[in-house]
Amino acid sequence: MEKVVIIGTGCAGLTAALYTARANLAPLVLTGKQPGGLLTTTSTVENFPGFPEGIDGYELMQRMQKQAERFGARVQFGVLEKVDLSGKPFVLTVDGETVQTQTLIIATGASHRHLGLESEHKLENKGVTFCATCDGALPMFRSQPLVVVGGGDSACEEALYLTRFGSVIHLVHRRESLRASRIMAERVLAHPKIKPHWDSVVTEVLDVKQDKVLGVRLKNVKTNAESVLDCAGLFVAIGHIPNTQLFQGTIHLDDNGYIIPKKGASTNVPGVFVAGDCADHVYRQAITAAGMGCAAAIEAERYLEALNQ
Ligand SMILES: Cc1cc2nc3c(=O)[nH]c(=O)nc-3n(C[C@H](O)[C@H](O)[C@H](O)COP(=O)(O)OP(=O)(O)OC[C@H]3O[C@@H](n4cnc5c(N)ncnc54)[C@H](O)[C@@H]3O)c2cc1C
Repeated sequence: MEKVVIIGTGCAGLTAALYTARANLAPLVLTGKQPGGLLTTTSTVENFPGFPEGIDGYELMQRMQKQAERFGARVQFGVLEKVDLSGKPFVLTVDGETVQTQTLIIATGASHRHLGLESEHKLENKGVTFCATCDGALPMFRSQPLVVVGGGDSACEEALYLTRFGSVIHLVHRRESLRASRIMAERVLAHPKIKPHWDSVVTEVLDVKQDKVLGVRLKNVKTNAESVLDCAGLFVAIGHIPNTQLFQGTIHLDDNGYIIPKKGASTNVPGVFVAGDCADHVYRQAITAAGMGCAAAIEAERYLEALNQ
């Protein structure tokens, strides 16, 4: 019987692992299919405190894992396939095996929606990015034309944020008006640096042969007319899919599938806690995920203390 099982080894899961390990709870930490989480897919992380020169995303996650293991966290390759949270202990199915646990910390993150283009995939981290806050300030994007795809609040926020760095921000949206809240849409449309392209979709990112982003090919969905926009970066902001499908029907999720935290890091099921991007559609940063991991660990520790009194 485990005291704590943590699902996920991104910033949230590994921070929860560090805290619960230091509380002598020897957490079992499951990596899922992406050990180290999303940050392992990026090169330099410039906004994680404590690294004035920046740090490689993969290295940062390895360090986090080592730090947690030093205090007794057991990090294991494994994918959670099924959960039964109806009784106590909780029963998990991990790669076909049953694991029982007194507490569970869900830190499964959220995946980005992709446009689904081969060129987008090939140029990821070479000018194609999914996070303006993370990458907008990189030298490769400064004083350059940039393209943001999307029409919701996130896309608008990304476009506005990028006006600090880019020379012009092309906002490409497949409809004829923004889906974003009115105030956000008005702000975007009034900005002198933002140029909307309505009824348009990106059909190709240029130029795979040169191994960097030099532009995008657009298609107008009403007229089928094609055009090319020169740019140094493509910021895809068409939404996220929280990795919470396993918890549907048991843990309270919002309309978009994000876990709804209760009193900080708790959930509607006592003994189940949540941290990171699977419960955060607002900030989605490494440091906020880590902070939530810390909170979930402290909550789990307190819950176990009360249980065993
Ligand atoms: C390209 C890129 C660059 C970024 N750059 C920055 C940056 O510079 N600064 C910054 O602050 N943020 C950055 N971010 C955002 C940051 O990566 C995320 O906010 C952070 O990783 C969220 O951490 P998390 O632990 O919540 O989730 P994730 O990092 O997504 O980790 C989720 C974990 O859950 C596991 N998992 C999922 N399902 C299961 C399952 N069924 N069973 C077991 N395990 C499972 C996964 O394998 C993974 O280990 C970037 C993101 C991307 C994609």
